[in-house]
This record gives sequence, structure tokens and C-alpha cells, in this order.
Amino acid sequence: EHAPVETDAVIIGAGPVGLFQVFELGLLEIKAHVIDALPHPGGQCIELYPDKPIYDIPAVPVCTGRELTENLLKQIEPFGATFHLGEEVTVVERQDDGRFYVETSKGTRFIARTVFIAAGVGAFQPRALKLGGVEKFAGSQLFYRVQNPADFADKDLVIIGGGDSALDWTLHFAAEGPKLARSVILMHRRDGFQAAPASVAKMKHLCEAGEMQFLVGQAVGYEEADGRLKALKVAGPDGVTRAVPLDMLLVFFGLSPKLGPIAEWGLDIERKQLVVDTEKFSTSVPGIFAVGDINTYPGKKKLILSGFHECALAAFGAAAIIFPDKDKIPLQYTTTSTRLHKVLGVE
Ligand code: FAD
Repeated sequence: EHAPVETDAVIIGAGPVGLFQVFELGLLEIKAHVIDALPHPGGQCIELYPDKPIYDIPAVPVCTGRELTENLLKQIEPFGATFHLGEEVTVVERQDDGRFYVETSKGTRFIARTVFIAAGVGAFQPRALKLGGVEKFAGSQLFYRVQNPADFADKDLVIIGGGDSALDWTLHFAAEGPKLARSVILMHRRDGFQAAPASVAKMKHLCEAGEMQFLVGQAVGYEEADGRLKALKVAGPDGVTRAVPLDMLLVFFGLSPKLGPIAEWGLDIERKQLVVDTEKFSTSVPGIFAVGDINTYPGKKKLILSGFHECALAAFGAAAIIFPDKDKIPLQYTTTSTRLHKVLGVE
């Protein structure tokens, strides 16, 4: 077994805010390890809207979720943070010496002087289809995300949901040209959507062209045979329940915020968010900071730009702990400071 990694800072979450925390710590010459449960950095920007435009990043008139992530990764490159992806942080414990013991689902261990929780909405948990027993088909015929579109080739596919994910994947599988699924039925409880109007229009067009079907209804049960899911029982607006045959079922009911293990770390929590001060963005445990969507304080807005600001102040809060001998950490400008030019590698 490896010895725990000793470090000044561990950042939990590689969303936009966790990534920018690397930058703000880097300017103060604090090196960080970044851990994320997802296999890639970017958090919600990559997981939920990689190709959608963001318009409210200061001085960036427009960029997509993916572009923002790529630019942040480029910006933090000089600081050589170590990434541990595909690992969920399960344990954060304060030790007697004031440092923190951090452990991941893969058994990676750290002893950190400071911890930054940038965990957003927590671990991503899709809302489940609640039909007694249907979970047993999860991963074989029931899916909450598309990992490999080829798995659906030549299948009779039913997609449930009325948001962007449901619409985007419906269009993907039903689009004219090389057909990906044998048949596609989109089902939603009402004839109204929370998706981009252009996508809804495209979907209706595909229905008219006979490329797919749209069904208003609610799943109330299912039929199985030989251990396989055969059909959904769907109650229509006319009150009649019909069987809708299928090979594969894709459900997009959105993500529900699940704090996960964070709830067990002894931190003050209010409505699934970590309570912080607005001077250092410290949690109720000194040395553990919380930045981005995961925190709450009077006036909190869940915006990327707010998260960036929080990172800057949290970094100064951490510097006071990591360099206790320096009485005051001076603020320096990246424009003019030769010390900052050195750490940025732009001399
Ligand atoms: P997240 O992006 O949620 O990242 C948190 C990361 O932490 C995740 O990758 C997660 O896997 C990881 N994590 C959680 N728990 C653990 C754990 N225990 N161990 C390891 N890893 C963990 N904001 C704007 O400012 N402008 C916009 O235009 C905008 N548009 C949006 C559009 C949509 C459709 C959505 C859904 C959001 C939008 N937002 C926008 C909000 C913005 O995406 C969030 O404010 C931002 O992503 C928060 O960043 P974060 O780093 O705090 O958290």
C-alpha cells in the first residue's frame, strides 16, 4: 500500500470553479491535487451543456461549456496540478495535527493542509424511473445516459423525458440519414417541453416524416418475458393504458442534487449546501473551504463568475494557514508582478 500523498491543498471537484481554484492557489505558490468522480474535468459544463453557448463570463462574449473548460485547463497549466479523475472523495477527516486525511473510492489517500470543496451539485445522480422492479434492467435495457450510441443500433428505442437531453438524443437516434435505432418513440407526460424550441420543431418534423413517434403518456408499469423487458405500460391522456413494445429504454428526468459523502464530513449544511463565510469562503471547519455551486451564503448566486471570485478569496484564506509565518500575504497584479510572472512561466 502506498503512503498517503502529502500536499498543501486538495481540491474536490474539477468543474469550472475547481479548475480556477488551481489558478488562484497557483498565484500564491500553493500546489494542488484535484479529484473528480467523473472521468473528465469540466463538471456541469461538460456533463450537461458542452456545446451550448455561455454569455456571461467576463470579457468572453461567448464560449461553449467545452471551450470554457479547455481555456481553464490551458490557464492553469503553469501550475502543474495533479489530477485524479474517476475517483469520488469519500472521506475527509481532521487529524490531531490540524491537517486533513482525504480518501477516494479507489483508495487514493492524501494528507492535506487545506481542502477545497468545489463539488457543485454533488455527485451527478440521474433521477430514476420509479416503476417497482424496473431497476433490474438498468445497464442492460434501461439507461439514464448514453455512453455508447452504437449499443442502440437496430433497436426499438423508447426515450422518456421533455428536456434538452431527451430531445437531443431523440434527434440523434431518429434523424434522417443513417438511422441509428430501428425505431424511436419519444414519450413525455404532456405535449410541452423544457427544451430548445428548435429541437422540438425538428422532432415534430421527424414525426410528420414518419421517422419517429411522439407519445403523450406516463409509464405506469412494464411487461417482461424471459428476464427481458418487453414493453412499457403507458397511460395516455385518454385514460387508456397501452403496451408500448421496446428493446431499449432511455430515461432523462434530469439530475437530482445528491451531496453524497460530503454530508458526512461534519460541516454545517443548509439545504444541501455548505455554509461559508464571505471573507474566506471557509466552511464551519477551519482549513476546509467551499467554492462554487456547493456553497451558500446570503445573496449567493450559482454562477460561474461568482465561483471564480470565491476562489480568489479562499486562496488567500488558505495561504494564511499554509504560510503562518508570513503576517500578511500581499496582493500582486499579474500584469506587473515579476514574482507572478515567474510562477506563470511568462518571464
Ligand atoms: P460543477 O460544475 O457542478 O462541478 C462539480 C464537480 O465536482 C463535478 O464534476 C462532480 O463530479 C464533482 N464532485 C462532486 N462530488 C464529488 C466527490 N465527492 N468526489 C469527487 N468529485 C466530486 N452558469 C453561468 O454562470 N452562466 C451560464 O450561462 C450557465 N449556463 C448553464 C446552463 C445549464 C444547462 C446548466 C445546468 C448550468 C448553467 N450554469 C451557468 C451554471 C454553471 O454550470 C454552474 O454554476 C457551474 O458549473 C458550477 O461550477 P462548480 O465547479 O461549482 O460545480
